[in-house]
Amino acid sequence: MKYYSTRHIAPIASLQEAVIKGLAPDKGLYMPEKINRLPADFFNKIGNLSLTDIAKIVAEKFFGEDIDKEKLNAIVIESLNFDIPLKKVEEGIYVLELFHGPTFAFKDVGARFMSRMLSYFVKEQHHENLKVLVATSGDTGSAVANGFLGVEGIQVFILYPSGKVSEIQEAQFTTLGQNIVALEINGTFDDCQALVKSAFVDEELNKKMYLTSANSINIARFLPQSIYYFYAYSQLAKQQLEDNAVVAVPSGNLGNLAAGLFAKRMGLPIKRFIAANNRNDVFYQYLNSGNYNPRASIQTIANAMDVGNPSNFERILDLYNHSHKAIQNDISASTYTDEEIKNTIRIVYEKTGYLLDPHGACAYQALKDGKKTDETGVFLATAHPAKFKETVEKCIGQDVEVPDRLSAFMQRKKQAFQLSNDYNAFKKTLFNLT
Ligand SMILES: *Cc1c(COP(=O)(O)O)cnc(C)c1O
Repeated sequence: MKYYSTRHIAPIASLQEAVIKGLAPDKGLYMPEKINRLPADFFNKIGNLSLTDIAKIVAEKFFGEDIDKEKLNAIVIESLNFDIPLKKVEEGIYVLELFHGPTFAFKDVGARFMSRMLSYFVKEQHHENLKVLVATSGDTGSAVANGFLGVEGIQVFILYPSGKVSEIQEAQFTTLGQNIVALEINGTFDDCQALVKSAFVDEELNKKMYLTSANSINIARFLPQSIYYFYAYSQLAKQQLEDNAVVAVPSGNLGNLAAGLFAKRMGLPIKRFIAANNRNDVFYQYLNSGNYNPRASIQTIANAMDVGNPSNFERILDLYNHSHKAIQNDISASTYTDEEIKNTIRIVYEKTGYLLDPHGACAYQALKDGKKTDETGVFLATAHPAKFKETVEKCIGQDVEVPDRLSAFMQRKKQAFQLSNDYNAFKKTLFNLT
């Protein structure tokens, strides 16, 4: 499979080039030249297939031309070694829980898949000195750190703003050791991102080491997320509920939603999608007006969706040939304030006993508000409510239990290098630690 850039200036890339580069040299996002459809027979029997069966078939459609089948199957199995249950919340509304992985957020699958694929290329190509740089405001850092932990030949640097990520998130990427280095930056998330961007264009540094990023624009992180949608559909099909299925997606950088649109393009009979935004609602505004006006992000309680200029928007435009009308046909959107999100968490808990996290709450409400009576709705729950313990406890007026596997992170010793936001100090640290 070859990959082109959404900006059409950079040369066509192989899978390996696209994965190692991440962003195309013209700053566009890589797209596969072909989206292979799955046969009708696959959809007829999908209700009887397991998660790994489905995942292997879908991954093969994306990456099968470029990676040896057994190796690809091994990557799939290692990335999906936990449950993704579909539960009924109320009549016509189901939740697909994507948060049972190592860091209790949905980014775990993509991060792990990408780490294993990079490691495969490192071994094949004898790449040495591969460094992954990630700026994080929380969830990306924890998923990437845990996804790459112990992967041979790859060292990972996580840059995060001091005092601006939650305790649980910080513990998830500062206590690991081995090939994971946490850099605590005295500055903002934007400072962290600026440091990473400067490093990518620093010739001296790039002569000494191979630098890559691990954010959601990377196809090895982005494409595997399509598997969720096939699996949601299979779980509905198992109960003969698959007709008129609608999926609501809590959206930030739009990677998860775009992966769902890829699944639909591969033939998955999902009728339509609903994008749930918090007050960072540039995508909602675009759907309604046709105008895309990126802006600075604002802080909300669903902070993994605090994105003012969603990077995967370019992929959605490309997939629909920039037709606003065609995009509107497949996707609608809703936007919610923090107060509305908190109300949703409280009301759903009181009425059904189901505990939402702030991100899942946006998607639930978007589904509730947008679903028609003849449709079956699934919303994606992207984080465990205990990751947002304080917020959620205030909404329901009760303690929230933290799973052992999550509290275990808090008991470990923090190891982080404190740095200012000065580029030269950061560069020196990179040299010293590698
Ligand atoms: C990253 C994240 C999102 C947003 O996903 P995108 O693919 O960036 O749209 C939603 N919820 C949680 C918990 C996340 O970590």
